[in-house]
Amino acid sequence: MPYLPAELPFLETAHEQAEFWAHCRQRRLLFQACGECGRPCHPPLPICPGCQSARRVWRQAPLPARLYSYTVVHHASHPAVKAHLPYNIALVEFPALPGVRLISNVVEVPPTALVIGMALELIWQDGANGQPLPRFRPATSRTGGPPGAS
Ligand SMILES: [Zn+2]
Repeated sequence: MPYLPAELPFLETAHEQAEFWAHCRQRRLLFQACGECGRPCHPPLPICPGCQSARRVWRQAPLPARLYSYTVVHHASHPAVKAHLPYNIALVEFPALPGVRLISNVVEVPPTALVIGMALELIWQDGANGQPLPRFRPATSRTGGPPGAS
């Protein structure tokens, strides 16, 4: 069962984000990087903010990711999520891609189990119209697990 209901509307995406979501439809989490200077960039932009090059490449998300920050939602902003309260909105970072942060959710654990800096692994859940959404759960590996897990 998805973390949030599939009835939750999927927002219209900007043109430059189309390729990011096309990769997600193939359940591949890739981030844009500059083809000249290598600077990673998310959300995707038409021009590198570092060197203004329009040459772009896509890099596989280096895992595990890490929980940079989060908030816990207690009041439904849309009727579709009312039965899913409380839920978290997580800001996930990828230490090997400095500056890249992805807004997502951490699933399979209650909000009280979230710890800033915890290692996360990627899972895919279908959202509206079957669009696969990248979500995360605490990593279970010995090298990147959450505190207390071994
Ligand atoms: Zn650049």
